[in-house]
Amino acid sequence: MIPGARLIILGRQGAGKGTQCVRLSRHYVVPHISTGDMLRTSAREGTELGLMAKQIMDAGGLVGDEVMIGLVGERVRKPDADTRGYILDGFPRTVAQAEALARITADKPLHAVIDLDVPREIVLERISSRRVCRDCGTNYTAGPVVPSPWICDVCGGDVAQRADDTPDSVNRRLDLYETQTSPLIAHYSKLGMLAVVNGIGHPDHVFKRLCDAVEARR
Ligand code: ADP
Repeated sequence: MIPGARLIILGRQGAGKGTQCVRLSRHYVVPHISTGDMLRTSAREGTELGLMAKQIMDAGGLVGDEVMIGLVGERVRKPDADTRGYILDGFPRTVAQAEALARITADKPLHAVIDLDVPREIVLERISSRRVCRDCGTNYTAGPVVPSPWICDVCGGDVAQRADDTPDSVNRRLDLYETQTSPLIAHYSKLGMLAVVNGIGHPDHVFKRLCDAVEARR
């Protein structure tokens, strides 16, 4: 176990980032900071930020850089993340966010940025069968027979398709990924911080590749 890992996991929607980040956060005992989960929690709580973000999320858009930078800046300064490190999932999503993050973390720089690589054709298939617990956020894959109602094994909550997993919204998010987020690969590669990990295959194998990439960067 390596204490204090500060990592960014990049990758397309549906690349399996969320599930792998949860495993990595348990493995390295660091908080998993998912900006999508933070926004969905705010939306459920009905806060002003949450209600604004929900409209954008359901349409497959991106929440403004300033809002996101404020949110993450505050989160990484909390004592758990400040002392142990963190795994950032869903942030940064634009070059402006990456530049702000570099300023925020100037005194405690990141160890590695990992791109979990899964091509667009494959993620489209995966997202259509993705189901998520509304309460705890655990991800599931729907098979040919979908239980109804579907109860979460972890917390007993309701498992359903995400409101933003409609074909239109997914396509919009994937387009935004290509234009706004994929430039981060070149950005971090130039800084010598990037490792690309093949995200295709059994989740256990992908997890092993991710851990190897983290170890190699430390
Ligand atoms: P996915 O990767 O499946 O699109 P996430 O759970 O990471 O989903 O994010 C859901 C939504 O939350 C995004 O589509 C976007 O609207 C918003 N969001 C999350 N993180 C960011 C971010 N860093 N910048 C802008 N919007 C964000």
